[in-house]
Amino acid sequence: MSKVVVIGGGVSGLTTALCLQKQFKDAISELTVLAAEFPGDYHAADYTSPWAGADWASFAKDSEPDQIRRDKLTYDVLIRLADSEPAAGIKKYPLKFFRSRSEPLPWYIKQRFVQGIRIYSADEIRASNLDPAEMQGFEFTSVTITPTRYNSYLISRLTAGGATIRRTKKLDSITDIVALLGYVPTLVVNCTGLSAGKLLRDVDPVEAAKVFPVKGQIVQIYEDLPFQVIIEDLPAEDNPLPNQFLNIFPRVEGGCIVGGIVGKYDGSRDVDPELSESILRIAKKHVPELKSTTVYNSYAALRPGREGGVRIGYSEYPLANRGGVLKVVHNYGIAGAGYQSSYGSAIEVCGYATRALNGRSKCPFKL
Ligand SMILES: Cc1cc2nc3c(=O)[nH]c(=O)nc-3n(C[C@H](O)[C@H](O)[C@H](O)COP(=O)(O)OP(=O)(O)OC[C@H]3O[C@@H](n4cnc5c(N)ncnc54)[C@H](O)[C@@H]3O)c2cc1C
Repeated sequence: MSKVVVIGGGVSGLTTALCLQKQFKDAISELTVLAAEFPGDYHAADYTSPWAGADWASFAKDSEPDQIRRDKLTYDVLIRLADSEPAAGIKKYPLKFFRSRSEPLPWYIKQRFVQGIRIYSADEIRASNLDPAEMQGFEFTSVTITPTRYNSYLISRLTAGGATIRRTKKLDSITDIVALLGYVPTLVVNCTGLSAGKLLRDVDPVEAAKVFPVKGQIVQIYEDLPFQVIIEDLPAEDNPLPNQFLNIFPRVEGGCIVGGIVGKYDGSRDVDPELSESILRIAKKHVPELKSTTVYNSYAALRPGREGGVRIGYSEYPLANRGGVLKVVHNYGIAGAGYQSSYGSAIEVCGYATRALNGRSKCPFKL
């Protein structure tokens, strides 16, 4: 029987652990999720999952079939959870999406993959104070997830299935896990997000150098909305920063998060008060339904970016002091899409895990 350790208590680690638990029910004797930070740990600087939006609006381009597959699979699971599992903290909302006419429609509209698709008329675009000559608009059924509720729900499912949740101080190197555990696990799954760069720098320096932060800034307000909003290309007269956009995601328990920015390579966690003001001004201008904005919190957070996109793959790292190798499947570097592709990525990890677990999987299985 196999001992499997997932490093990472964010959405990637918890979803991956859950899928491993389901798929390798009979092959895994011990499943441990090991992490320095877990849901509720608001001190954590480079722990991204508590700070996400978090909605589903796939960023995948037509030329990225792997990412489309991951996002598709995840959409179906999140919609089902929203319909059937109130404890998960997920709710379905129409998403009103606007972008420049020079951009193509996203794959999920072209393929008519998502539910509730409607393309906006010129009058509907004008109603959002946008110019239909410049902008296109459409809506579809998305979800928003309250991150800490959802990740706690994943933990409760994992522990109900017999997994161990264990806190550790941050490992310096991935191979240090052997000394910490006192044995060589059958398989390690690396879901360490932005910290993957540090964790791999000794054993996999080329890969380690590809990891970078992508800063976001969010304002949280008490007011509620019955829909989500994304405006990707803000009009010049709004004076946005070059990498600024608008997103408003209401939460199942009430209130909304309002963002945002995509600050590639920016690792600071300072909140820019001028940006917060700009975010709220732009939100009120383009969402007339938002009559007031009562702020209860503002924060900046770092998405786990990686050159080339998410890394899902298999590696073996030599164990210098004891001989043999540490077998690792990676799942890190998903940047701003960790929730919306979580199940698709996790299923892919299961495919690689089959190698280390001698092909013993339970197929098909239900998520
Ligand atoms: C402002 C903002 C808005 C976002 N909106 C969305 C959205 O709308 N939709 C969406 O899908 N995504 C969104 N995201 C992105 C999403 O939050 C991330 O993609 C996701 O949280 C990444 O999760 P992760 O599990 O890979 O990493 P993390 O959540 O960072 O988890 C990493 C885990 O690894 C552990 N760890 C790391 N290094 C070590 C070590 N050396 N030793 C032990 N433990 C270690 C940490 O303690 C932590 O538990 C948003 C992110 C931000 C910042």
